[in-house]
Amino acid sequence: MDVTPATAPLVRLSGVNKHFGDLHVLRDIDLDVDKGEVLVVIGPSGSGKSTLCRAINRLEPIDSGTIELDGEPLPEEGRALARLRSDVGMVFQSFNLFAHKTVLENVTLGPLKVRKAKKADARKEALELLDRVGVKDQADKLPAQLSGGQQQRVAIARALAMHPKVILFDEPTSALDPEMVGEVLDVMVGLARDGMTMVVVTHEMGFARKAANRVVFMADGQLVEQATPEEFFTNPRSTRAKDFLSKIL
Ligand code: ADP
Ligand code: MG
Repeated sequence: MDVTPATAPLVRLSGVNKHFGDLHVLRDIDLDVDKGEVLVVIGPSGSGKSTLCRAINRLEPIDSGTIELDGEPLPEEGRALARLRSDVGMVFQSFNLFAHKTVLENVTLGPLKVRKAKKADARKEALELLDRVGVKDQADKLPAQLSGGQQQRVAIARALAMHPKVILFDEPTSALDPEMVGEVLDVMVGLARDGMTMVVVTHEMGFARKAANRVVFMADGQLVEQATPEEFFTNPRSTRAKDFLSKIL
């Protein structure tokens, strides 16, 4: 019998700790992300935001605590781990596209290799996804021939092609020239409106206000504060959040 309640969170972190040597980078993190929720994670550099994302994808093993996806603990290895990596999409600051593959190949590679999709199906869906993020006409180019904003939109299409349950965005616009930030955020707002579950590390307050259900503020490896975007940006409670916001706003 399936005893998981219908309201079980999609991602659940309980008592998660992580050290790098003497550095305690994740401290007793308890965090639930519901299906369809858009969670924005904000906090100073070095506070553990990337490590948190990498832990959810098991790119970074944790020292203690548990992380569950859809009610199941994250797998350690093997095929289950490969499936986890397709269930948990990741979009990085630095795009991480394969430089010697075309835009289209970048998007079809995962479905062909991991999902064992048929070539024609993978291609058709990739073109639809490239269309959805507004770069279909770039399909046969190499990543370096695209602008940063276009490359990041390809990276989003590549993540979507795996049919993930959740996508983690780690500062997806911080390496972009300012004029390209909006086009990437617009795609992300669209995904949010379509019901995609998203964890987004970003300081883009406009995005948080438009798309986030909840903001969590991290400092020194701890979740210091959680609130709605409106509450958080207008009336942060902790001194650390106040200090941080006074520097970025
Ligand atoms: P953020 O994304 O919030 O800037 P990170 O999660 O990248 O923070 O890093 C948290 C802390 O862990 C930082 O002090 C960083 O230098 C350290 N750190 C991150 N990755 C490693 C690693 N692989 N080895 C050692 N220290 C690391
Ligand atoms: Mg980071």
